[in-house]
Amino acid sequence: MNRLISCPYCGMNCRIKVVKKLSHPYRFDSPSLPDIPNESGKRCFFGNNIIKPSLTKDRIRYPLKASERGSFIRTSWDDAIREAVVRLAEHSENPESMMFIGGMELSNESAYVFQKLARLLGTNNIDNTAFDQKISVLEVVEANAYGLWRKYSEIPHNDLIVLWGINPAESAPLLLRWVMLAKSQGAKVVLIDPHKTKTIKLSDKMLRPYPGTDWALALGVLNEIISREPDRGALFPRDSLNIIELYPLNEVSRITGIPNAELESFVDVLLTSESGTIIWGPGAAMGINSKVTVRNIISLAGILNFGIIPFARWGNSQGVLDMGLLPNYLPGYTGYDSAERFERLWKTWELPREEGKSISDAITDEISLFYIADCSGLSLIPGIENALEKAEFVIVQDSYFSEVAEFADLILPAATFIESDGSITNSERRIQWSERIKRPPGEAKPHWAILSKIGEKLKLGFSYSTPEEVLHEISTVVAGYERAAPRILKRTPEGVFVGNNTGADLKLSAGYGKDVKGKVAIFVHQFRSFWKWELPEKLDSALISPEDASEIGIRNEGHIRIKSGKWDFKVRARVSQTVLPGTVRIPWKSIFRKALSLESLKMCECEVEGVRDGEDIH
Ligand code: SF4
Repeated sequence: MNRLISCPYCGMNCRIKVVKKLSHPYRFDSPSLPDIPNESGKRCFFGNNIIKPSLTKDRIRYPLKASERGSFIRTSWDDAIREAVVRLAEHSENPESMMFIGGMELSNESAYVFQKLARLLGTNNIDNTAFDQKISVLEVVEANAYGLWRKYSEIPHNDLIVLWGINPAESAPLLLRWVMLAKSQGAKVVLIDPHKTKTIKLSDKMLRPYPGTDWALALGVLNEIISREPDRGALFPRDSLNIIELYPLNEVSRITGIPNAELESFVDVLLTSESGTIIWGPGAAMGINSKVTVRNIISLAGILNFGIIPFARWGNSQGVLDMGLLPNYLPGYTGYDSAERFERLWKTWELPREEGKSISDAITDEISLFYIADCSGLSLIPGIENALEKAEFVIVQDSYFSEVAEFADLILPAATFIESDGSITNSERRIQWSERIKRPPGEAKPHWAILSKIGEKLKLGFSYSTPEEVLHEISTVVAGYERAAPRILKRTPEGVFVGNNTGADLKLSAGYGKDVKGKVAIFVHQFRSFWKWELPEKLDSALISPEDASEIGIRNEGHIRIKSGKWDFKVRARVSQTVLPGTVRIPWKSIFRKALSLESLKMCECEVEGVRDGEDIH
């Protein structure tokens, strides 16, 4: 039997054909389909090993109740659902005391039912952990820049590709194949990244802005373009032009550390291109000043009439945003002033109209009930342990035990993406139907089915028997998903595109960021379920430039101390020419949470010192 799935481990969502035979249940093959995200049907290491995380020992198999913090006893599904329903009903008397957080591995159907549950219980306190994509997409929505969004198959038709804060050679090899195709047809590739990643081999030009100063790079380029071709400035309001005027190239060279001549030559390349696309990733959307960086990148693409692809580092980041796991938008980025439509469709009298709490509000405000569906990414958040510790009741619905699950009062075992049918939306906004290839272990169930049962018991007016039923509703209520009706999507193996790429009336703007002082630690995030069986030594050292190593007097394999506020960490140092002086590059561990902020989950300002042998730091 053949099944078609989408890999949920990066924003490509590559199509994989799974050939199931008794002798060899999971043989992967290339689907011979003409228009799929992964050109030629290839897949990377993660796609080839997609089955492994689902087979790990740390799966949650049965409903569990906490006997004390971090210790759990098995319970039945009936008891678990009863307990969840009682707690949610109690807290719905004061809906503001509840917070719903959904992860990036939820399917569109599960994300949709999750936000519907929260809103019908009377709260917009709902958010997601697709941090980088959330910043990017909300800026696209703000600028009404859907029309600039490109498909992967359009990349080879461009003469210029700008890769900004993204390293596809290591994090999305199948995206790299599209860029290589463009290059083989004569396109130029410009890489913008402080670190010399493996993607450098493909690039014709590399710019290395000091971390957190990419906003200034974009502003300086806008300034130079408008001074050479003043008509292009007409797309900006006066207040944005005032900001752009403050950043000529010589000032930007001082801020970013990029020589003036390199900046000028970058502007030359941009202005001679007839069709370019800017693809950006977590380096732009998860660092210091990320919001304003993304805003300025979109504006740059807008005045050049280039395409954009905001590339998500993880699975269904795009879908969970489209489904409305956001405190400020209903599904399809519908504002609360248009909530009547959803009231009519959901057959309810009154949905909450106030903007809800975001995750950052929830960790500082009093929240007494957390409902977390899929914990992926949540452990990055500074302050999350305190918020969960303080809460009266925590429901965790997930596939794996995690640091977050330790705080649960009730754990509901969920199927992984490959253990459930459902749809997923990738970073080019292609919606694909992915089939179940394996049964969930123990008594685990799909997220949407658990949520549906809870909604039914709470008498909220919904009850779904299949994910197709949910998708049918999505296709009737979520703007842009009209073509994703199950009867169409299941018969369209290459998927369909979200249909609101109209792009009329761009609303461009520009902004400036805060100064970056001192050195910067850049964190490399791992795939949640994969890191456990990646090479452990890779996770145990930091890269430092030869210039900084010599300044603090350490050699290769010596130890350094990285300090940021109260956070103080000792690590083995590897001296590498690939690192920009003034920065250290280090694999992320949960201990680093204290050094980060929700606005910058990929880097922090820090001090770096050499450590004498035998000196102990925790
Ligand atoms: S490129 Fe991304 S989606 Fe494709 S196989 Fe690799 S991890 Fe999966």
